[in-house]
Amino acid sequence: MRGWGYRSFRPLQREAAEAALAGRDSLVVLPTGGGKSLCYQLPAALGRGLVLVVSPLIALMDDQVAAAREAGLKADALHSNLEADHRGEVYRRLTSGETELLYVSPERLLAGDLVEDIAPRLALAAVDEAHCVSHWGHDFRPEYRRLAEVFGRFPKAARMALTATATPGVRDDIRAQLRLRDPLVLVGHPDRPNLVYRAFPRRDQAGQVLDVVRRHPGRGGIVYAQTRKDVERLAAGLASAGVSCAAYHAGLPAEERRRAQERFVGERLDVVVATIAFGMGIDRPDVRFVVHANTPRSVEHYQQESGRAGRDGAPAECVLLFAASDLAAHRWLARKDADLAPERERALDRQLREIGRYAVAPVCRHRLLAEHFGALYPDPAAAASAEGNCGACDVCLGETRDLPHEEALLTAKKILSAAWRAEGRYGTGYVVRLLSGKADERLARNGHDKLQVFGILKEAGEAALCSWVDQLIVQGFLDVDEGEYPLLRITEAGKALCRDEGTVRLGAVVPRAPKKKRTGSLAGAAAAAGPDEELFERLRRLRRLVAERTGVPPYVVFHDTALSEMAALKPRTPDELRSVKGVGDRKLDRYGPAFLRVIAGEPPESAV
Ligand code: ADP
Ligand code: ZN
Repeated sequence: MRGWGYRSFRPLQREAAEAALAGRDSLVVLPTGGGKSLCYQLPAALGRGLVLVVSPLIALMDDQVAAAREAGLKADALHSNLEADHRGEVYRRLTSGETELLYVSPERLLAGDLVEDIAPRLALAAVDEAHCVSHWGHDFRPEYRRLAEVFGRFPKAARMALTATATPGVRDDIRAQLRLRDPLVLVGHPDRPNLVYRAFPRRDQAGQVLDVVRRHPGRGGIVYAQTRKDVERLAAGLASAGVSCAAYHAGLPAEERRRAQERFVGERLDVVVATIAFGMGIDRPDVRFVVHANTPRSVEHYQQESGRAGRDGAPAECVLLFAASDLAAHRWLARKDADLAPERERALDRQLREIGRYAVAPVCRHRLLAEHFGALYPDPAAAASAEGNCGACDVCLGETRDLPHEEALLTAKKILSAAWRAEGRYGTGYVVRLLSGKADERLARNGHDKLQVFGILKEAGEAALCSWVDQLIVQGFLDVDEGEYPLLRITEAGKALCRDEGTVRLGAVVPRAPKKKRTGSLAGAAAAAGPDEELFERLRRLRRLVAERTGVPPYVVFHDTALSEMAALKPRTPDELRSVKGVGDRKLDRYGPAFLRVIAGEPPESAV
């Protein structure tokens, strides 16, 4: 494969490119990091005509162009932010027939004046983030609905719609709105095998976040929190622990946000603590961890946000810190501004229940996610992964354990009867104190320290008790009344469970054994293969210097995966370097000499 330096295709890339080359329309659904861009870049590289890519994110376009050019493609972009003299150049290359790949914003294409220049040569019109065409998707863009009009003026060009959103409603909408003609539908498996998923009850937000960050020293990561205040507090905490980090939320000046984004992509900043406003338009493929310090709004949101980790295919970690109170906060926020229509209300409740279930069910997280998106796990199409242990989530790694059936039922009954005795007049904290036998003044005043349930689960500890209460809420045995004070109430299902009608599952965090070598980090994986940590760090430094000099993001120069392979193999000649995955001919010419010098021992500062 000219330019890219990949050894083989990822699933469905070949099929998608071949459909385009055969002039057939296609709908390509691949998870984030699945390698969608190769599907249209490859036809562009084979020189059968111009490939047009409609992309909604102007902020990303220049980086996409830079990455395509690094692979040796004659790529350009047209959008409203282009400077005038640069625009002239782009038009010249387009009209002279030089351009192989043209990124364009929907607005720019809809203006209509490009059609004449493009029509004679257009082989493929690709639509990136095609779910934007759908009301059902999460980022509806009205302009996307008018793309089919323009496409109608290129009847001979094949169409390719690409997205990571796989729900059937969105899929049908894409087909209809973009008027795909008998498309080849290619749906990839949604699982991301290089991601380690963890979901834990939240006990000490700042401390738990810091634990994750410390597992990835000097690496890129994103921490999502619910409110601006949470963001500010967590960022301050990390900064005072010496972590290179910045806060990012809608309340900050645009300039400050832009700078944080730039520094993060340029690897001059390790961690961004953000509300969900951060992420669209971030194309850093070596994000090694994504922590949700609060529970996201839905499994779809979680998949999308956590999916920003490990797009380079190397190991990365996604951690969710769950508390049932987050779900109540989401519900409150959704209702605050608007009277929700009943069906919207039901959808919201379902989404919150699903993400809650994901977070607390002591079931393999890869499996829960795959099943949520309608796929089987393990993927029956993938050979040799028949056993049920993914080895890449807290449950399968034995960090969270499923209480034995009897124990779970007994524990649940004790908690439920305490809630029952408290008669729905007290909150979680009170019930937990009751169960753990901590008599405060109010408890004593109510005479609740004389109850049989007082101290009945003392051994478990308050953290586990809080988590079990949350787990019972998510499973519908307890309910939290909304109001000024959230009150805990037993439900009809809860009462039934106390009569041994129904089943319950409870998970518990397994206390960590004294530190072993961690799993799931790139450094860890690299160390196992025996490369040289110190060399890897020097290569990263060189990459940053090269990137600064050439004005592209570091990941456009080489991915972490390429650097760690260099550090392991220590190539000495251009030929040896060429065998590293991600080193294409063009990159070999441009960057090879400097990287070989650093591998031979020269400091990055003089090799660049
Ligand atoms: P998506 O748009 O689906 O999220 P990208 O096209 O950005 O994915 O690709 C994700 C990453 O995977 C990129 O960094 C790319 O270089 C890498 N990649 C794509 N295809 C391959 C392949 N066949 N082999 C190895 N790496 C690949
Ligand atoms: Zn698992």
